[in-house]
Amino acid sequence: AIRPLIAGNWKMNGLKASTAEFDAMLNGAAGVAGRADLLVCPPVTLIAAFADRARGKAVVVGAQDCHPKASGAHTGDIAAEMLVDAGASAIIVGHSERRADHGEGDALVKQKAEAARRAGATAIVCIGETQTQRDAGQTLDILRGQLDGSLPDGSTAANLVVAYEPVWAIGTGLTPTAKDVEQIHGFIREFLTASFEADGARMRILYGGSVKPSNAAELMAVKNVNGALVGGASLKAADFLAIARGC
Ligand code: 13P
Repeated sequence: AIRPLIAGNWKMNGLKASTAEFDAMLNGAAGVAGRADLLVCPPVTLIAAFADRARGKAVVVGAQDCHPKASGAHTGDIAAEMLVDAGASAIIVGHSERRADHGEGDALVKQKAEAARRAGATAIVCIGETQTQRDAGQTLDILRGQLDGSLPDGSTAANLVVAYEPVWAIGTGLTPTAKDVEQIHGFIREFLTASFEADGARMRILYGGSVKPSNAAELMAVKNVNGALVGGASLKAADFLAIARGC
């Protein structure tokens, strides 16, 4: 069986004062460590401090984005190597908010995933269809295109995680049915095994989009759902830990 990963994406939320909430997650983590791996991706300003506090605890710290290059004249950007240096062990790339807010396409997302691997971090590559694409019956075509375009060649179960996040489910309280999730995660699994063979069979496929304590157990029980990428509900230790207990 694939060990589940419950990943929190704090997005653009969190100040130094949020350290208390993170500490509450650290304190509760031992109680869920038997069920799942826990990852928290705070804003970049908090990565180093959180990683220091998490040392020896059952939570690891990650980042939400990186630049493809290792260094250079790119004002305001952060390299994967810098994130790893600060204590990140995973990097989310290709989140739909970055695809939408910053016009990131599959080719750039792939470069970022390659940068994460180069730096020694696990890339969490996000894919997902919009409401319009879904209504037009294009979901699987869109996902196939994103998978084809944004996953690095030669990825392994250790350095690549795929997160399926339907854009229409993010921050809306809406979720696909368990049946829809099973179909889509099965489709992603087929793609991964065709592309990466034995590693593709072991890669984690996370579901993301309005995951909360009340729906986590049902979603996590779906075949080929190997954890969750949690936004809003990852900001509160009690909710985040309750989601992990649902695995
Ligand atoms: P919500 O859990 O707030 O819907 O966000 C999901 C998400 O985008 C995680 O990356």
